[in-house]
Amino acid sequence: MNKSKKSSNKSPKHRRPNWDEYFIEIMHAAAKRATCDRGRSACVFVKENQVLVTGYVGSPTGFPHCDDVGHQIKKLIHKDGTVTEHCMRTVHAEQNAICQAAKRGVSLEGSTLYVTMAPCRTCTMLLINIGVKRIVAENKYHAGGESEKMLKKAGIKLEYLNNKVMEYPKRAEEQWVRGVKVGK
Ligand SMILES: [Zn+2]
Ligand SMILES: [Zn+2]
Repeated sequence: MNKSKKSSNKSPKHRRPNWDEYFIEIMHAAAKRATCDRGRSACVFVKENQVLVTGYVGSPTGFPHCDDVGHQIKKLIHKDGTVTEHCMRTVHAEQNAICQAAKRGVSLEGSTLYVTMAPCRTCTMLLINIGVKRIVAENKYHAGGESEKMLKKAGIKLEYLNNKVMEYPKRAEEQWVRGVKVGK
């Protein structure tokens, strides 16, 4: 039987995605444009089940990408002595989406954010100040504890779709010692 596409929602093979699944799928499409392999994160801001803006991690417009020239790693020494490494070359997915909203004059207040992993501390501060209402993160973020606490304090719902923790590849750390490319 060759049924028309119009009636495909009645086919036993077709399962209509729910809203969360629908926006996560759009987020996955955006993530394919990401240019830093430490996460390849993306996000979608949604209000009343409509997409407002999307974003993905990448260098500022016109600047070289991590995928082409390598990461720009900086070490952060915490009060308790732990050291974490971060790629500073990129604008984060959430930040890029907020920039897009600013350029187009779109309010993100009261929106829901679908995002690859729990936001970093900086993005969390921005999300609090733009008035996001709910965050649906596909994964946890290895350094996301502080963000979780801040969001809770700000009264913003944070939901995880699964318990996978996003860890960045050790490879990046090994290849970029003191800003010098070693290997590959
Ligand atoms: Zn990078
Ligand atoms: Zn961030």
